[in-house]
Amino acid sequence: MATSKSAVIDHTQRDPWSIAQEQFGIAADRLHLDPNMRAILAECQRELTVHFPVRMADGAVKVFTGYRIQHNTTRGPGKGGIRYHPSVTLNEVKALAMWMTWKCAVVGIPYGGAKGGVVCDPKMMSQQQLETLTRRYTTEIALLIGPERDIPAPDVNTNAQTMAWIMDTYSMHQGYTALAVVTGKPLSIGGSEGRNEATARGAVYTIIEAAKHLGMDLEGARVVVQGFGNAGSFSAKLMHELGGKVLAVSDTSGGIFNPKGFDPNKVDAYKRETGSVVGFPGTERVTNAELIELDCDILIPAAIENQIGEHNAPRIKAKIVAEAANGPTSPEADRILFDKDVFLIPDILCNAGGVTVSYFEWVQDLQNLFWREATINARLKEVMVKSFNDVLDMSKKHKVDMRTAAYMVAVHRVAEATLTRGIYP
Ligand code: GLU
Repeated sequence: MATSKSAVIDHTQRDPWSIAQEQFGIAADRLHLDPNMRAILAECQRELTVHFPVRMADGAVKVFTGYRIQHNTTRGPGKGGIRYHPSVTLNEVKALAMWMTWKCAVVGIPYGGAKGGVVCDPKMMSQQQLETLTRRYTTEIALLIGPERDIPAPDVNTNAQTMAWIMDTYSMHQGYTALAVVTGKPLSIGGSEGRNEATARGAVYTIIEAAKHLGMDLEGARVVVQGFGNAGSFSAKLMHELGGKVLAVSDTSGGIFNPKGFDPNKVDAYKRETGSVVGFPGTERVTNAELIELDCDILIPAAIENQIGEHNAPRIKAKIVAEAANGPTSPEADRILFDKDVFLIPDILCNAGGVTVSYFEWVQDLQNLFWREATINARLKEVMVKSFNDVLDMSKKHKVDMRTAAYMVAVHRVAEATLTRGIYP
């Protein structure tokens, strides 16, 4: 998901790794997970930190720090995106890698969880510098990645072009073209139809299922989206296409609001022209924090972690919170929302459409046989609807919220795979 890190970052908020641990702990307790299994799954299997030089435009050399983490590879190769952002930390990437393990397990695709990140500010860098940084970072993490080992993809501030550079760099080192080393590539070099919209499309399939479950009509439903990167912009457009009324969207510069709604396609065109959604004609300005609390039916956080916490959860008015972003909600906020009967579709389920179509891309690359977009979308729908219902059934059976249920489904699957393989040696 090449979402721009569009929301306000509050560093006083909780460390994502401690949140990931707490979420896992809640599910492990519920599952009465064996303590040995718990100890295995609570840690990341491999954590690589790299420091590497990049020659900048003025000739000076700058040393950057990057990470590639594999949380768990029991069910298959590591899978997960790479993000570029000034606030990337080891603990953030560890949490994101663990979330990928559960995400792949919850939708039943044969991958483990991994994630990468580089501490940098891509908004201040030229394309040339980004290419150089990407190629050198790829070389540094080459000892971990590969089509059978660990397969990166886009995440915050990275996109199809970034993946093309990674694929090319890796292939140059191998001496042959290895399409399947990354997903989210451009169509011209083994990318998949539908991958761009996949995170949002998957999220919308889960929203449709949630609305059915709650008896909510999506025609005219009031939708608020935080973030206008890959996940956010396509989510807004798809909800609009379904007859929803998009009242507010935002990016790093702030948000826009019109209680009568607007056409997100026009906002997208406006943002392409001006660089931000802010100032879109006929809307008033709201902050990212105000946007979260707007009166609406469906709230889609599609930016970054730590957006819904104890401080604002009591004032959330949405009936459905659909987490297109990774880690937007704290465990404290989860409890508050559950008590308020807000139906939350957790990130590891809601945004799994991205990695699901990544899986389809990888399969197509390995087979050198490419599918039509209609086939991709139909298969994506099948995966998302089934996964949603697996999680809903678990939540009903154990009377737990949807996040705990999704974790229970996922942790159980990874634990079962671990037991079946046995502990080496
Ligand atoms: N970065 C996306 C995510 O967080 C996609 C990962 C992938 O396709 O491997 O799910």
